[in-house]
Amino acid sequence: MSSRPDPLGFLNAELDSLKSQGLYRTLRVLEGEALSHAVYDHTSVVNLSSNNYLGFTTHPRLRQAALDAVREFGVGSGAVRTISGTMAMHVELERRLATFKNVEAVVVFQSGFAANAGTVSAILNKDDVIISDSLNHASIIDGCRLSKAPIKVFPHKDVDAARAILQDLPAAQRKLLITDGVFSMDGDLGPLPALCDLADEFGCIMMVDDAHASGVFGRQGRGTVDHFGCHGRVDIQVGTLSKAIGSLGGYVAGTGALIDFLHHRARPFLFSTSHPPAVTAACIAALDVLESEPRWMEQLWDNTRFFKAGLTALGFNTGMSESPITPVIVGEAALAATMSDKLFAKGVFAQSIGFPTVARGQARLRTIVSATHTREDLQFALDRMGEVGRELGVI
Ligand SMILES: *Cc1c(COP(=O)(O)O)cnc(C)c1O
Repeated sequence: MSSRPDPLGFLNAELDSLKSQGLYRTLRVLEGEALSHAVYDHTSVVNLSSNNYLGFTTHPRLRQAALDAVREFGVGSGAVRTISGTMAMHVELERRLATFKNVEAVVVFQSGFAANAGTVSAILNKDDVIISDSLNHASIIDGCRLSKAPIKVFPHKDVDAARAILQDLPAAQRKLLITDGVFSMDGDLGPLPALCDLADEFGCIMMVDDAHASGVFGRQGRGTVDHFGCHGRVDIQVGTLSKAIGSLGGYVAGTGALIDFLHHRARPFLFSTSHPPAVTAACIAALDVLESEPRWMEQLWDNTRFFKAGLTALGFNTGMSESPITPVIVGEAALAATMSDKLFAKGVFAQSIGFPTVARGQARLRTIVSATHTREDLQFALDRMGEVGRELGVI
């Protein structure tokens, strides 16, 4: 044993502080497949904490495509895209996504996080400015920071406030106006048409992060741009392949020039290895399924309506959600954690979310239904939420 003082000792104090605030969480461990009824920590639970909206993580066609790809192409691509790691199937997925999104071109990244952070940081520099919704995703914020462009934050969905910021900026300055399509912790939608109007008026680059809208909103899951009829008005659309699409990855959809530029300047594209064949093949199969099996989206929205109505009838504060993400807002992080733990013991997994993921005093359970929940699953979850909510005085 060395007597060297631990230079990381300060982390223990930080962890103790998290514990005293009720913000310390242990990771729940999934045993088996990511299903809507799953086993975590040896406990069988109705899973309301997954982004697996359509049940695609275990869809037979995706699974088969991945297995076939492993047999035919192995398990890795061997390099970053720009050196020797661009496989024919990578190009095929991008071509399919471009058609699906009705844009000139698409580039796929390793994750949605890499797509956002890599794109914003590549196209802007310190002389530019970013106008960003206060609840935009962390990967957008990190991209903004990496770009060194100043960030002007407007209050959540407040188009007038965004306009006031734009009016004060020099006309010649390059501006990026950026919003989530679906906000990941509240489930409400960005005001796309009004923001597109602003972008037109002030000459902004318009960017939408559609991570939670891919496979959920728009025709066959084309996203919020399609949902709102804003085709041609959004310069940069980001989507994820990790949520409704069931596998892993993120993509940027836009003009040929944008994608060409990202091939040369987006650092995750240049410096991090491309997807293994199984991932890419599963994503291509997911697009086939989205186009040919509309029942998954229909069931998702049926379940969403049923579950939201149940939560409202119980008297929970579910915020402003318009999507399958429904927050149950309870206030203090410790209360949210206790509620989540009690529900888990009763067979319902609804993860608690506190600061810094949401604002202090806005801690919540975040529930997400999927297409593959049965009515019995959802009614069971509602009954248990009612019991625990009453026991803790939340309702
Ligand atoms: C999940 C999420 C991302 C990141 O996507 P990954 O593919 O999981 O990296 C980006 N933006 C938003 C709004 C998200 O919710």
